[in-house]
Amino acid sequence: MMAQYLEIKEAYENALLFYRMGDFYEMFFDDAVAAAEALDIALTKRGKHNGADIPMCGVPVHAAEGYLLTLIRKGFRVAVCEQMESPAEAKKRGYKAVVKRDVVRLVTPGTLTEDSLLEARRHNFLAAYAMVRDEAALAWVDISTGEFHVMPLPPVRLGPELARLMPSELVISEASEADLAEIGSESGTSLTPLSRAAFDSTSAEKRLCALFSVGSLEAFGQFTRAEVSAMGAVVEYLEITQKGKLPLLQKPVREAQARVMQIDAATRRNLELTQSMNGGRAGSLLAAIDRTVTAAGARLLERRLSSPSRVLNVIRDRLAAVDFALEQSRLAEDLRDDLRKVPDLDRALSRLGLERGGPRDLAAIRNGLGQAAQISDRIADAPLPDLLRNAAEALVGHDELTDLLENALIAEPPLLARDGGFIAPGFDEELDEMRQLRDEGRSVIAAMQSEYQELTGINSLKVKHNNVLGYFVEVTATHADKMLSEPLSDTFKHRQTTANQVRFTTVPLSEMETKILNAGGRALEIEKRLFDSLARAILDRADHVNVASRALAELDLATALADLARAEDWAKPQVDDSRTLQITGGRHPVVELALRKQGGAPFIANDCDLADGTPGADIWLLTGPNMAGKSTFLRQNALIALLAQTGSYVPAKAAKIGIVSQLFSRVGASDDLARGRSTFMVEMVETAAILNQADDRALVILDEIGRGTATYDGLSIAWATLEHLHDVNQSRALFATHYHEMTNLAEKLKGVDNATVAVKEFEGEVIFLHEVRKGAADRSYGVQVAKLAGLPDAVVARARVVLDALEKGEREGGKKQAVIDDLPLFSAAPPPPPPAAAKGPSKLEERLDQILPDDLSPREALALLYELKDLK
Ligand code: ADP
Repeated sequence: MMAQYLEIKEAYENALLFYRMGDFYEMFFDDAVAAAEALDIALTKRGKHNGADIPMCGVPVHAAEGYLLTLIRKGFRVAVCEQMESPAEAKKRGYKAVVKRDVVRLVTPGTLTEDSLLEARRHNFLAAYAMVRDEAALAWVDISTGEFHVMPLPPVRLGPELARLMPSELVISEASEADLAEIGSESGTSLTPLSRAAFDSTSAEKRLCALFSVGSLEAFGQFTRAEVSAMGAVVEYLEITQKGKLPLLQKPVREAQARVMQIDAATRRNLELTQSMNGGRAGSLLAAIDRTVTAAGARLLERRLSSPSRVLNVIRDRLAAVDFALEQSRLAEDLRDDLRKVPDLDRALSRLGLERGGPRDLAAIRNGLGQAAQISDRIADAPLPDLLRNAAEALVGHDELTDLLENALIAEPPLLARDGGFIAPGFDEELDEMRQLRDEGRSVIAAMQSEYQELTGINSLKVKHNNVLGYFVEVTATHADKMLSEPLSDTFKHRQTTANQVRFTTVPLSEMETKILNAGGRALEIEKRLFDSLARAILDRADHVNVASRALAELDLATALADLARAEDWAKPQVDDSRTLQITGGRHPVVELALRKQGGAPFIANDCDLADGTPGADIWLLTGPNMAGKSTFLRQNALIALLAQTGSYVPAKAAKIGIVSQLFSRVGASDDLARGRSTFMVEMVETAAILNQADDRALVILDEIGRGTATYDGLSIAWATLEHLHDVNQSRALFATHYHEMTNLAEKLKGVDNATVAVKEFEGEVIFLHEVRKGAADRSYGVQVAKLAGLPDAVVARARVVLDALEKGEREGGKKQAVIDDLPLFSAAPPPPPPAAAKGPSKLEERLDQILPDDLSPREALALLYELKDLK
């Protein structure tokens, strides 16, 4: 057995091998050590290998899913190795034959299908990135729903796309492993290298054509070689992990970057679109606005929110669907009640496709399509807008399949097909017959008990059943003699004597047992066959079921957004092709919700108007003390534009949004400490990314840029950044700063206006009004804010004195420098460098000589700095 184990294990070096032994999956050697620690289960020993104990641990098969989940979450892959025959079958081949075993599935983060291993309301993407000469492409699939996408994607855009899709696994070519390692670890995606051969575009094309049964991929559109290679790698990886059983994949859809709002990883993090800063869903925009009632609807919302559209017609169609749900509010409410009963069709379908489904999945399809028909009736006469009209059409035409399933299945079938009992009576004549035989047999046996009691005169005689003896007659030991002697011994054959009981069989009992077993076994066989044929009937219509599911999700989302808009008093945004950003009474949906939960002061709505109708930049420079609400204001305007392009109403009284092509948001370094890197460098790298990319259709949110360095450095960087945004990028931008000196820029630069968040001072204390007004703040109130924060009175008093001195100095000119000179930051001169050693250049100097600064990207420069520091 160990030889077999080692042979199988050799092929799955990078995975834990779950080796099936009876009711357990066992792990051995290093696998056992790693798994025992990860799962917190006992590590034992079994036998010896090369003279040393073999470590071993195991998990029961019936509870394996939970353990799998833990292992996958902890970054393991698991190869599940099953027994391919029963021990009895193995014995037939020879006394010592080992049961045949084989890996039936490689479980990895990107290839899960079980409900218990997946988050219902989130996609689980598996992606592959391919580079073919100077082209590159990303393909991704959710095997639990079958969605399959691809797009050309240069390496510099890979990071942002991974941030958008958050795939749980990225397949790459071995050849590019080193280049992509950093992007992978930054995005938190687990990288899986495959051989170069898996990425070969010619065989990829063949693989894809065979999978979709088409002669040429052109049937789905024009793809670059890199795209074909990426799609091929996805399919290859699925074949490896699913051991040849391919999931149902939908036709590949080519996504065009130009159609969606470009949002990079830092911006997503910063605006907390689908995840909050701490990584969870709670506290994110998604969590605050999600009112969908189906899992597929929730996934659609997540998709839309991660990739807002920038195609006017698409946005208007989506908004029209929300309008409809708002106008027909009664109907929409009824629809939501119907939708609540819709199960997860996509995932049921995918499990059936992978032969991992059970009777409940059949029932899910039955119930889902049944609900679809009901929903279709409900909206038949309604004045549907285009988007929902298309959806409605996909809801009908499934009657044949639904009828079949209705007739075939009982109302609430069990989870597993294995034990039978899910086919309704009356559906299959032979099955009914076998079940009747089986059940009658059971009652005949029950009747035998009284017959034998009479025959023997022993009232305590029982007919029982266990797995070893089958049916048997049992009497207490006191009656043993009577039973073992004639005439009873003619009828009752002794089988077993235990401490207190004696057990017998009889010929009629054995015959009846065989009948029951045969009938029961036959019934199970029939049910299994019926299960397969029902699954086939569903899979034959998989495309239609997918479309219906998508339609239900669309209805769910439209009615959920309407529900949100009504409950939260949101307004329909006007979206057009201009460069307007005009928001009246805007609110931050997440902050507002948080304030409401705290039950304190209400959220103060604010206006933002970036459009003066002329070409060129439109920038608001926002000043005001800390805690006044600058960040909140900045972000709420970005979120409102984003929500509008998602196709949702927005948290405002009114909003006019000219389509935003790129959205950027950055926060000054000190807010970003959690990432534990050279934060100022990160801040600068990220700012550079904006200045290099933003165009006049972009919306840029910069919050306290330059804060991560010394005052004058920071001010100069912020100043130059604002000028560049204004003169070169000409973007729409909101720029918050506590450098009051910058307010002078508004006079110099045509497109810059000053705005401030108002505060009131009352008896030396500051009161936050949270009102954004045009104009510059007169002072920063830092000392007052510090007092509010609970700084000791003595410190506050001392700070006031220093501040007064500084301000007085400034008014009188020149003296400020004297105070600054006293700061250790400026007085500590670096020690002189040691004299160069005579024995030639050091490693550090050699490395320095090799550097070509002009060829470095900011990120490479940062990496280089770390490297140089290590050489020191
Ligand atoms: P700043 O960026 O100016 O330091 P924040 O935007 O972080 O300030 O806001 C600080 C706090 O003030 C927020 O956490 C929130 O509780 C409150 N706040 C901000 N804006 C508003 C508003 N418009 N209405 C009510 N409270 C607000």
